[in-house]
Amino acid sequence: MNIVLLGAPGAGKGTQAAKLVESRGLAHISTGDILREAVKNQTELGVKAKGYMDAGELVPDDLIVDLMKERMEQPDTSEGVILDGFPRTTTQAVALDSMLSELERPLNAALLIDVDAEVIVARLTSRRMCRACGHICSVSDGQTCPKCAGEMYQRDDDNEETVRNRLDVFDKSTAPLIDYYQGQDLLVRIDGDRDPGVVFADVEAALGF
Ligand code: ADP
Ligand code: ZN
Repeated sequence: MNIVLLGAPGAGKGTQAAKLVESRGLAHISTGDILREAVKNQTELGVKAKGYMDAGELVPDDLIVDLMKERMEQPDTSEGVILDGFPRTTTQAVALDSMLSELERPLNAALLIDVDAEVIVARLTSRRMCRACGHICSVSDGQTCPKCAGEMYQRDDDNEETVRNRLDVFDKSTAPLIDYYQGQDLLVRIDGDRDPGVVFADVEAALGF
């Protein structure tokens, strides 16, 4: 089963993806995580991507499509993937369709995790991430990771100004994908402004589990 998670930054895509990985054993592919790793390791991709990411802008489509083509060919994707943060533009969505058809795999659903913009600003500016394992918590949860005891930090792009820019970018570039997937009859809208476990029950129901 191959699933696209759509939603504004901070809507909870990563949290829901992690739950799906745990319950269904699908491969979680987060372009944001791949890019942050590339930035950390100062790879060619990371060096090119950093400026866009820090400003809350999208990394150019050709870089993203190349990295996703490579990622989708890894063996762990054969049982299915949860795509988190990709596609983010219509160009990327079209590229995904052709990647999947080349691999003779279907796209089963596009789940829109829907959350109001002001709720998102509050969430993201208080969000902290584990430097070691990527686990996500709130600033009020303390400075060490509950999973691996790593150091919790604020992502460079989780300050209010950049968050507002990321929301604008979402409205302009990514929101058109809602219509795109509605047109393919794949879209399911889920209210993301609830407890993650409650949201997850709807995610499972939407996928027919
Ligand atoms: P969020 O969904 O919280 O904004 P992500 O971790 O998904 O965070 O992405 C962080 C940043 O990485 C984005 O703001 C963007 O610069 C870049 N990025 C991630 N995925 C893509 C993509 N599919 N296309 C272009 N840029 C991307
Ligand atoms: Zn950790």
